Amino acid sequence: MRAVTVKPGVANSLNLVEDQPEPAAEEGSVLVEALAVGICGTDHEIIAGEYGEAPPGRDHLVIGHESLGRVIEDPSGTMQPGDLVAGIVRHPDPVPCPNCAVGEWDMCRNGQYTEHGIKALPGFARDRWRIEPQFAVALDPALAQVGVLLEPTSVVAKAWDHIERIGHRAEWQPQTVLVTGAGPIGLLAALLATQRGLTVHVLDRNTDGPKPELVAGLGATYHTVTVNDLPFEPDVVIECTGAPTVVLDVMCKAGPTGIVCLAGVSSGGRTINFDAGALNRELVLENNVVFGSVNANRRHWDMAAQALAGADQVWLESLITRRVPVNRYADAYTPGPDDIKVVLEFAS
Ligand code: BGC
Repeated sequence: MRAVTVKPGVANSLNLVEDQPEPAAEEGSVLVEALAVGICGTDHEIIAGEYGEAPPGRDHLVIGHESLGRVIEDPSGTMQPGDLVAGIVRHPDPVPCPNCAVGEWDMCRNGQYTEHGIKALPGFARDRWRIEPQFAVALDPALAQVGVLLEPTSVVAKAWDHIERIGHRAEWQPQTVLVTGAGPIGLLAALLATQRGLTVHVLDRNTDGPKPELVAGLGATYHTVTVNDLPFEPDVVIECTGAPTVVLDVMCKAGPTGIVCLAGVSSGGRTINFDAGALNRELVLENNVVFGSVNANRRHWDMAAQALAGADQVWLESLITRRVPVNRYADAYTPGPDDIKVVLEFAS
């Protein structure tokens, strides 16, 4: 069968192999036919040789952690043939740490977790894959066109879950949300904000392309000014650019008791001249919280499946700006100027 692979640590080793062995039975009882795989910044980092780890004893990694497929069989009886399914990316560490021990592998404390298509577990960019039922998430059949967005949605569902837990440390009546970065994660974070009835602002540097319209489609306001020039102080910020100056600016911009969730991954290596004392003063005197958020556990995947089912399907479809057949995989992994989400399609 076909699989898209990389040699982790080696730049530009992306390849389509035609003779990938069928998934091993140990990978799980649920056998799935791949329909689609979404592509994100993490994949680009892996392709650049900067991130990613092959399974033990192998030098190649099947890439792809944003999945959508159809169940072929599940002898355990948990899933039915024909079910639409996505595979949970992260698996708990083997120790396990206290968080992984209770299913909160998104909060793994020892770094020994594994991730499909990223860290030591084969990914989903192959014609067929297997998964254990507890890592398989069933999707509403109506989500056949957009279900591949479940993984990025799980990441923002986790971010919102933690924002709300932090918010409820005291009386909390948030009204205004600022999302920085109108990529897939930012737009899905904004979607979940509108589903919570909040007033949503999205900031991005692009003045044209599909982003302004996608934001307007949510009933949110699109901004291209700097964070400092925004005429309001948000109660919640979800930072999705990872751009160092934006990260610092939003920390200073949040209103009293504001919560800043950092969801963008910076590359590091750049230093900035910055008044850390002034930031400290602001955070302390306003009871602000800044926290990082990555990955998602089973509960968040289920929340994400509900969020997608409750969203405008036409809007969700418009997030997928390119669908590329797997045989043209190199095109799919070459970024285009107006890309939001690019999806590799497997169904022939
Ligand atoms: C994925 C997460 C993963 C993270 C770090 C992200 O692209 O969405 O599931 O935990 O990369 O590997």
